[in-house]
Amino acid sequence: MSNNIKKDLLLFNKLINHFLDREKILPPNHYIEPQNLHKFFDISLNENPNDPVEFENTLKELLEKSPKSSSKLFFNQLYGGRHSKAVLGDLLAVFLNNSMATYKIAGPQVAIEKEVLSKIYNLIGYGENSGGTFPTGGSMCNFMSLVLARDKALKNSRYDISKLIVYTSENSHYSISKNVSFSGIKKENIRYLKTNKFGKIKVVDFKKQIAKDKQQGLIPFYLNATAGTTVLCAFDDIVGLAPICNNNNIWLHLDGAFGGTVIFSDKYKFLVKGIEQTDSFCFNAHKTLGAPISTSVLTVKNKQYLYESFDCNADYLYQTHGKEYNLGHLSLECGRRNNALKFWTLWKSIGRIGIKKIIDQEFNLANVARKYVEEHPHYKLYSFKNSLSICFNYKNFDPEDLCKKLYEKNKLMIGFGTFKKVKFIRLITINCQNTENEVLNVFKIIEEFTKDPTVILKTIKNE
Ligand SMILES: *Cc1c(COP(=O)(O)O)cnc(C)c1O
Repeated sequence: MSNNIKKDLLLFNKLINHFLDREKILPPNHYIEPQNLHKFFDISLNENPNDPVEFENTLKELLEKSPKSSSKLFFNQLYGGRHSKAVLGDLLAVFLNNSMATYKIAGPQVAIEKEVLSKIYNLIGYGENSGGTFPTGGSMCNFMSLVLARDKALKNSRYDISKLIVYTSENSHYSISKNVSFSGIKKENIRYLKTNKFGKIKVVDFKKQIAKDKQQGLIPFYLNATAGTTVLCAFDDIVGLAPICNNNNIWLHLDGAFGGTVIFSDKYKFLVKGIEQTDSFCFNAHKTLGAPISTSVLTVKNKQYLYESFDCNADYLYQTHGKEYNLGHLSLECGRRNNALKFWTLWKSIGRIGIKKIIDQEFNLANVARKYVEEHPHYKLYSFKNSLSICFNYKNFDPEDLCKKLYEKNKLMIGFGTFKKVKFIRLITINCQNTENEVLNVFKIIEEFTKDPTVILKTIKNE
């Protein structure tokens, strides 16, 4: 029998139990040149079924040789590690396979999503009228917020889309410029605002730029501020930006895809001070909280705008219950994966207090790493405190070349970043399973690797 879920679950358990043990001792990746992959696994699809034993072995090999994002040596992306309670929720969601569009197909899952969202509105301090959804990722959250702002602006019939101006930081995520073209706004209508030495938008420049644009008859309508920029993890000054947006009728969106989960921490929520003044806000629980990709939340202060942009009639879909329980009226997707359940199982089992501890621990790991860089000779630090990103260079090694070779030699998965034209290694402490020693181990690996006489590394001129 080829379609037998109970049998395949036994296989799943066998494969995963083996994999979890191997993951602890294996390097974070097993480097293979892409053109040689076929030599390692039988990836080919054929007319005839695969022999079950070969099938199992291929799966085993695929698991073993795929990059391990939960390895203690994986720091390459803004996510890493896994929280078992979130993984559990996601596995259950796969089995239920509800779609979140209507109450009829999702039942109690609708209440799960609504409960997570409503507790988040409370943490932000959004009022009674707030709304939200779980889009497919941070980029999609940002896109939806731009559409909301655009539609709100275009309700004024005198406004012409070619005149709408988007503001965002020069250090913001690349999804902003992609989203602008998707939403029918010209790319030349984006203003990349200059940032100060900490990577935060210069508030005065924002004000000046608005005045300049208005003088030319253009219409400022949207500001994307960031809570945790992708490279430096800088938090824009909401308290300074919000009144300017308010006075100029500009939609203020806060992209917290990376750092927005500070709302859960008593100690670090000051980094998003003024958040209740934003029009929309998003964060990724799959980045800092160890939830599987994707667990993204978009919240909007005034739910009415979500309906105005995304609500459409479809009698083949909406056949029972009202808008309140048919969540498809608020989303861009029709069939929508249940991404709320994993967040709910996490929150339910460890409480807000448990989530807070994860965030605080990650900042603690960042402090430990930053201190190491500051206190050790041959290191230069490029990032700042209150950040989950530690940017540094070691001796005069070219960071790009060093990261590439660490990867190709299966030592460490880590990447580089650039700020104000300076390139550096970027260590991110967002794996909730890492300990202090495991983070400090990164420096030991780099120090030993650069001493290895068989490895030839490029160097750069020192800054
Ligand atoms: C990661 C990130 C995004 C994109 O989120 P995805 O879920 O990868 O689409 C957007 N903004 C910032 C600041 C990010 O760090």
